[in-house]
Order: sequence, then C-alpha cells, then structure tokens
Amino acid sequence: MPPPRFLPHASLQRLFDVLSGHGYSVVAPQLRNGSIVYAETQNAGDLPWGVSLIQEAGSSRIVKGELAQCFAWANGPQALKPLLFAPREALWRISRGEGGFAVEVVETPRRPQAVIGVRACDLAALSIQDRHFLHGPYPDPHYGARREGMLLIAVNCTHPASTCFCASTGDGPEAKADFDLAMTEIEDGFVIRDGSPSGAQILDALALPEALAVQIDAANAGIRHAASGQTRAIPGRKLRDALMARLDHPRWQEVAERCLACGNCTMVCPTCFCHAETEEPRLDGNGSLHSREWDSCFGERHGHIHGKQLRPEIRQRYRQWLTHKLATWHDQFGRSGCVGCGRCIAWCPVGIDITEEAAALLK
Ligand code: SF4
Ligand code: SF4
Repeated sequence: MPPPRFLPHASLQRLFDVLSGHGYSVVAPQLRNGSIVYAETQNAGDLPWGVSLIQEAGSSRIVKGELAQCFAWANGPQALKPLLFAPREALWRISRGEGGFAVEVVETPRRPQAVIGVRACDLAALSIQDRHFLHGPYPDPHYGARREGMLLIAVNCTHPASTCFCASTGDGPEAKADFDLAMTEIEDGFVIRDGSPSGAQILDALALPEALAVQIDAANAGIRHAASGQTRAIPGRKLRDALMARLDHPRWQEVAERCLACGNCTMVCPTCFCHAETEEPRLDGNGSLHSREWDSCFGERHGHIHGKQLRPEIRQRYRQWLTHKLATWHDQFGRSGCVGCGRCIAWCPVGIDITEEAAALLK
C-alpha cells in the first residue's frame, strides 16, 4: 500500500480544483438552515469551518467549534442516500399515439460526481443500498446512472456525536474499504490515502508530500478517540432470533405511546429504501407520468394492501421497522440494517432511541 500523504488545510482548494479538472462536479458538506447538508460547490471555503454539531436524542444543533477545522462534527441529516436514491423522481412516461400506447423511460443524466466527506457508516449503508438497487434481478437504472460515476472521498470520524454507535455495529468510525480516497483531519490538514485506481489518479495529480509519522499518529489517535468516545451501543450484532421471539413484548406498546409515526427516522436512515409509486394521468387522457418517492413504514398507507390495513396501530409499525432493521434484514442482506449512524435518534422529534429500545426488548 502506498504511504499516506499530507494535504494542508491551506491547500484544500487544490483538491476541489483537481477534481473539477478531472471532470467531476464536487459535492461537499455545507451549512444550510441550521444544519450541515451536501450541496455542489467548487470552493473549499464553503465547507463548515470552525463549527461543531451537538446531537442528542431529539436534537441537533450547530455550535461554534474550538478548532479551525472543517470536519469537527459527526454527521448531518443526510447520508449518500438522497444523492443516489432521489427523494422524488419520475421513472417513465406513457403516451397514446396512433399505434397504441408507448412507454418512454425517463433518463437519469450520467455525470461524474465526487462526494467529499463520506463517513464510514455511510459507506457501509451504501454497500447495502448498492445490493438492493443494483445487485438484484432488476437493477435500478436511475440509481445506477448516478452511482456509476461517483467518486467517494471518505473522511474518518474524529468527533463522534453522543448519538453515534458505529463502533458497536462494526461500521466505523474509520473507513476501511469501498472508498476512492480517505482523509483524516488533524490540526493543520489531512492525512490522505487512496483506496482505488481512480483515487490514486487524483492523489498523484495533487503531488503531495508523504505524511510524517507524527501526522499519521495524530490521525490514528483521532480515530481511536472517535471510537472510545461513543457512549451508545447496540446490544449485539445478531439480534434476529431474540427480537423475533419478542413480538408480543409490552415494550412495543410503551414506545408506541411516544412515537408520532412521523417517519423522520426512516427518512434520515441511510439504509431505508422503501418508496411509494404514483401514476399521474394527463388531463387530456392521452398519457401519464409514473413517479416514485420515499415512503415510510410508519405511514398509514404503507401497510395498506388490497383493501386491508396490515398495521393499523403505531405499535405494529414501530415493531415492523425495528424488527426489519435489526432482525429480518439479516435474512435479506446477511447483516443488520443498522450501521450505527445515530441519525434516527437525533432526528426523532420525541427522542426515541433505537439502542435503548433494543436493549429494553432484550431484557
Ligand atoms: S437505524 Fe438509525 S442508527 Fe441505524 S442506520 Fe438507520 S438511522 Fe442510522
Ligand atoms: S420513532 Fe420518532 S422519528 Fe420515528 S416515526 Fe416515531 S416519532 Fe417519528
């Protein structure tokens, strides 16, 4: 493996310039509406410099950070999900012509995109989403078009939120695979290494010096701190049988009395992929547009099948979500559906905590 390099903060703009020069549009985290979200930019100055995110059960807020760093926070509400699996998109059009009805697939533009700041938990979630959208019998062309040219620039976590628990799921805080470049931020820059031929090409173009031993040690210490600083943990990686044996546990009703069935937890979850499809007819009766949008198993219509509501009570919907995520996901994907990002805890308006619920059910 080639030795890691050092990219000073003062030279971070060069990374943006080199990526643009190689034809990538660059997406990076930025401050928007009191949070940190992904958006396109050509400017390293747009990154969230000098801020931190305080995340607790039911809250996430920006505070002034002590350090002049741009990744001194764990994760915002988005993972890679909205960049690949669009929250709402048209899939195909049907139009009536002289020869009958014609179906036209709505093309998704293919353009290489480089994403800076991907966390280890989100890489783990991406590999699950790839399996769901691309590796089944019917690969999704819309997801596939966006995924094809995506360059992933991981940033190892050094500042965990109180809601993070990726160390217990085994998915973080260090990106170990499936990235093109991986960076760890230290006081004055980044220790950076490549993980693929495309990443190596970018790293060569940057022509950076080798990282010093003291810089590598500081980066490793930051990652160790992010693992040891996590205060939450999932109570085991193989909970399938234990949870499926507790489908009548009174805890489902207790959590249902707090749950608003708002679906926030599923919207922010980087592994959730449920969606609903709609057909919008044209007013002239000569065609329609078929679209899909994110849906949630907490919504009333999600369990509505052939005139019957399968899960009329919130207790049943919460149980469906948690037992799919932590139990039956193993049957589908050979692993849990939770990568420990903690977003569902921070963005739940009433602070319901998946680690706490799983532990209470297992008692
Ligand atoms: S269930 Fe919660 S903690 Fe787990 S991956 Fe989804 S949002 Fe993250
Ligand atoms: S667990 Fe929280 S975020 Fe999820 S549906 Fe219930 S109230 Fe909303």
